[in-house]
Amino acid sequence: MAQPVEISITATGRKVTLPTGLFINNEFVPSVDSSDVIQCLNPATEEVICSVVAGSAADIDRAVAAARAAYNTTWGKNVGPVERARLINRLADLMERDRDVLAELESLNNGKPVRVARDFDIGDSIGCLRYYAGWADKITGQTIEVDNKTKLAFTRHDPIGVCGQIIPWNYPINMWAWKVAPALACGCTIVMKPSELTPLTALKLSELIVEAGFPAGVVNTVASLGSVGGAALAAHPDVDKVAFTGSTVTGRKIMEAAAKSNLKKVSLELGGKSPHLVFESADLEQAANWAALGILYNTGQDCTAGSRLFVQDTIYDKFISILVGKAKEMVVGNGFDEKVSGGPVVSKVQYDKVWSYIESGKQEGATLALGGQKRPGKGFFVDPTIFTDVRPDMKIVRDEIFGPVLSVAKFSTEEEAVKLANDTSYGLGAGLHSKDADQCMRVSSALEAGTVWVNQYNLLYNNVPFGGKKQSGIGRELGSYALDEYTSVKAVHWNFGEKLDWPF
Ligand code: NAD
Repeated sequence: MAQPVEISITATGRKVTLPTGLFINNEFVPSVDSSDVIQCLNPATEEVICSVVAGSAADIDRAVAAARAAYNTTWGKNVGPVERARLINRLADLMERDRDVLAELESLNNGKPVRVARDFDIGDSIGCLRYYAGWADKITGQTIEVDNKTKLAFTRHDPIGVCGQIIPWNYPINMWAWKVAPALACGCTIVMKPSELTPLTALKLSELIVEAGFPAGVVNTVASLGSVGGAALAAHPDVDKVAFTGSTVTGRKIMEAAAKSNLKKVSLELGGKSPHLVFESADLEQAANWAALGILYNTGQDCTAGSRLFVQDTIYDKFISILVGKAKEMVVGNGFDEKVSGGPVVSKVQYDKVWSYIESGKQEGATLALGGQKRPGKGFFVDPTIFTDVRPDMKIVRDEIFGPVLSVAKFSTEEEAVKLANDTSYGLGAGLHSKDADQCMRVSSALEAGTVWVNQYNLLYNNVPFGGKKQSGIGRELGSYALDEYTSVKAVHWNFGEKLDWPF
């Protein structure tokens, strides 16, 4: 099975023809040795959308061979930066043209509101491609003085080679763009493994790769289970780098596989349990808006979700009541309804996991200020849930839940706030709200996180780096920093005069 299927999107009346095969060498093909499929579900209705081919380890071999061949012939050092930029920009244009289709597919498969997918996920992804297209001809090394009369050295930032890219289900198009755009700009070739829960938009984007005119084998897409295709990619001896976004547990396995195979380079964007601090001088209405966005955006399925909120004791009760009011205003439902700002969680597994945490919060004695009741009917919906008066040892405070579940506690001093905030093995995001500029500077510098938001939360820009400290990851995406992840620095020492006396 590798035939395209026609999907009818009833909410909009659109019919989309979707490729279902493995995308290797610019063609959609069946597996070489497996008849396994991945069944894709709509999390808002629990209905099956379609099935796509599930790649095997042998299919990963084939995709890596295609990426290697392209790297050695039509891409890599064989294509100039201006051409790379032209093709990436062309891809961005095609995404812009197909924005509505992509948004509807993303919503169908992931559950997020179509409006959010169209305006944010896809808008930012198009911007990401254009941003890195702009970098393609600005990737330069240095000339280094060694001895002015006879020698100099220079560096070249070569493409790192064939890249395995493994992405999660919470931002399928965004994560695709964050990985594909800098890799292509640097001259790398790619084997992309989308999440088995949300492969549809990566397959649709693969069609655009052909239409944009990329040579065969530059971008390959293998939908597959993580334990099969993902593991094979991380362990592959002919992959030069693996870029991964997902859970910390899987990140560890990837690093281990990379170490045991060929010591390929690894970048990891992992989980988080991000703290969000509200000090007494803050604009409480604004802080509540950002705190609600911090935990409810993308139904809390956000690696930087501000899931631990710490509020100064002098404003605690007042702030909780404002925040609960804001969270109640959030409309959760089917993402095809334009009024909805929060969809379901992505799968039954995720739904059960989130509910088991809500139950554990109740059992451990946290106070439920909002939510905590299951909805009747179909769909993996979880309404905004706020626990107050939590203790640092509770599971809901320690573990990443990846759902719209907030834990709130109070603090009395700035020192205590920072201590509570940093009491986690993660270090991805952190936020603080205060009108005291000195306090903003002190606290932002003390927070152990790769990103700190001051008087805002969760906004990212393509030109600002993103990544984690502690067990939230290794390396940086976005900004010029991401180029370091896809290049290998070569130092060339040049002698134009020194004679070597022998024996020396
Ligand atoms: P996951 O780790 O289960 O899966 C992520 C990807 O890894 C999927 O494509 C999956 O198929 C693959 N995978 C699973 N097992 C594998 C293995 N043994 N070898 C290789 N690949 C394997 O994570 P998820 O449930 O899809 O995503 C949620 C997690 O991702 C959360 O912990 C979240 O915080 C994290 N995340 C982090 C960021 C970030 O930028 N830091 C962004 C989004 C999500």
